[in-house]
Amino acid sequence: MKFNLNTLDAEDPLAAIQSQFLLPQGTIYLDGNSLGMMPLSVKSRIKDVTEQQWAVDLITSWNKHQWIDLPVNVGERIAKLIGAAPGQTLCCDTISVNLFKLLAAALVMQQGRNKVVSTTDNFPTDLYMVQGLEDLLGQTRCQLQLVEESQLASAIDDDTAILLVTEVNFRTGQKLDIAALTAKAHKHGALVIVDLAHSAGVLPVALDDWQVDFAVGCTYKYLNGGPGAPAFAYVATRHQEAMQQPLYGWMGHANGFQFDVNYQAAADARQLLVGTPSVIAMSAVDAALDVYDQVTMTQIRQKSMQLTEVFLALLSASPDCAQLRCISPESPEQRGSQLSFEFEHAWGLCQALIKSNIIADFRAPNYIRFGFAPLYNSYRQIGTAVAEMAQIMAEKRYLNPEFQVKNKVT
Ligand SMILES: *Cc1c(COP(=O)(O)O)cnc(C)c1O
Repeated sequence: MKFNLNTLDAEDPLAAIQSQFLLPQGTIYLDGNSLGMMPLSVKSRIKDVTEQQWAVDLITSWNKHQWIDLPVNVGERIAKLIGAAPGQTLCCDTISVNLFKLLAAALVMQQGRNKVVSTTDNFPTDLYMVQGLEDLLGQTRCQLQLVEESQLASAIDDDTAILLVTEVNFRTGQKLDIAALTAKAHKHGALVIVDLAHSAGVLPVALDDWQVDFAVGCTYKYLNGGPGAPAFAYVATRHQEAMQQPLYGWMGHANGFQFDVNYQAAADARQLLVGTPSVIAMSAVDAALDVYDQVTMTQIRQKSMQLTEVFLALLSASPDCAQLRCISPESPEQRGSQLSFEFEHAWGLCQALIKSNIIADFRAPNYIRFGFAPLYNSYRQIGTAVAEMAQIMAEKRYLNPEFQVKNKVT
């Protein structure tokens, strides 16, 4: 692969977008897959929401500034990025809580079946949600069946109630074929719940076309909504009448402001709502989505693949980095927007990089993970990051005592 980093930056159709983010001086941020950088639009929006809407307009803002419609309005903006027609996507709660609601609802729809098939390597909270339902309902109603990722398709059979699958593996970056898995699940009468945590905002997703039944995803990773920003949930129109999720909250009531003593679910996707939306956080998500009005998911995907290819090419040209074993798929089509490497001293390497203002993250037991955010990462940054990493490897700086101290959050 022959390339010139300056030319790649000069010809990058997304290069101008970088200036819409707050970029800390000297920092190369390769962690947008854990917490996206802050779009400048968020800064001004938060100022308005706190200093005008909350401080001055107070409770009238629920109507005046449409606070009450944020879950639906922000949900619809996310819907456009995940191939969902209107009326199916809401912004609310966290991935974990949304999964609980959807898993429970899907189990009710699958009377007579109890198996929830997922992968050993799925993000733990996804599996914990199934385990919690298992303990609550008993194994006759819910039973988690874990298989290796490569065995997922063949594990689906006529006993499968739900296929719970994350499109992009958070450790390896392996991207699964959701359309094919969904087709297979449906052939056997199973329902599909897809986790888009590492897809939303960085990969073209086509939930409606793929015929996915339910989906969840978060907004603080590639969508840059801010730390702890509310997640999203999707329920296909065809299931909205039959479904019943167990967290009966007044926001999911057909008529919450009637303050009726009895619960009656909204007939549409809004039944997924539970309590009062987190207005400040959700306003931040709304503002963060503005940048997506100026770009296409195809542009983002192309740059994402190119960034990872450049990173790998530079790395393989450096003998000092030979000890880093890439655990992500070789083909850019088969991975998300990240690269992960196994290395005995991955923790120390990650800390040494952070000391040099190159932010990556560590995943137990010994992986270093780089996330590539096409909206604000440049090709030159990739060059600088790999050069610094080669230097650290050559000097074995990852062994320095100061880089051995473990933090609470990795
Ligand atoms: C980041 C991530 C989550 C986080 O879930 P929250 O409940 O929003 O904290 C869940 N699943 C996957 C696959 C993730 O990558």
